[in-house]
Amino acid sequence: MIEIEIIPALSDNYIYLLHNKVTEHTAVIDPGVSQPVIDKLMEKKWDLNQIINTHHHNDHTGGNLELMKIWNLELVAPFKEQNKIPNVTHYVSHDDQINIADISSKVIETPGHTSGHVCYYLRDYDLLFSGDTLFRMGCGRVFEGTMEQMKNSLKLLKNLPDKTQVYCGHEYTLSNTKFCISLEPNNIEVYKEFEEVSRLRSNSSKTIPFLLGNEKKLNPFLKFDDNSLKKSIGLEDKNETEVFTYIRNSKDSF
Ligand code: ZN
Ligand code: FE
Repeated sequence: MIEIEIIPALSDNYIYLLHNKVTEHTAVIDPGVSQPVIDKLMEKKWDLNQIINTHHHNDHTGGNLELMKIWNLELVAPFKEQNKIPNVTHYVSHDDQINIADISSKVIETPGHTSGHVCYYLRDYDLLFSGDTLFRMGCGRVFEGTMEQMKNSLKLLKNLPDKTQVYCGHEYTLSNTKFCISLEPNNIEVYKEFEEVSRLRSNSSKTIPFLLGNEKKLNPFLKFDDNSLKKSIGLEDKNETEVFTYIRNSKDSF
C-alpha cells in the first residue's frame, strides 16, 4: 500500500513524496527545494529515507543537501550525470532495478532534456515518474541531447501500458494544450482536453497525475508516427525524427 503526496514548489515544479504504508519508508522525488518537503513530512509525521533524482537541473535537485543534513538518506541519481549531482550514494543506469520506498522500480534512461535523464517506472503500481521528459500534453525542451534521442526516449515511455499514471516535473499542461490545438485545430478530442484542463486550472487544481493511454492519443510529442497529425501539419512524407523535430521547434517558439 502506498500513498503519494504532490508538493507544488518554485513557480511550476512538482515534488513527490512516495510513502510505503507497510514498511513506513518514504522517498522524495526531485526535491528542487527543501522547505515545503520538510513541512509536508512534519504534517504527515513521516521520516524521510531516500531522495530520487531524475536529472541534474537545480529545480529538481536544489533541496538535496538540506534534506541530507536532517536525515541520513540514500541519494539515487543517474550514473550518466555523476559529475553534476553531489553526494550521490547510489547511481542508476538503464534497466536497473531499484527500490523506491521499498517498492520495486525500473530505471528507464531517457536522454534528450539532459544527456543522462532517467525516469522511474513502478510496474506493480502502474506509476511513472517522468521528470522533465514527458509532460501532460508536452515534453521537455531538448537541451543536452539530440532530437532523435528525445524522440527515442519518448518512444520507450510510449511502450508502457495505457493504464500507467504519470507524475511529471512541471505544471505546464494548460499552455501545452493551447499549443496542441494549434497543431491539430480539427481534432475535437484535443479541444475536449483543453476544456478539461482549463476547468482544472481555473480553480487551481493540479492536472497531475495523468493517464499514459490518453497521452498516446492526444500528446503530439508521442504522435510522431500518427498520419492524421502528420497531415494536419503538412509533413505526411517525413520520418519520425523529422516530425518530432518540427513539433519540438514549433513549441520552442510558440
Ligand atoms: Zn529540467
Ligand atoms: Fe525542470
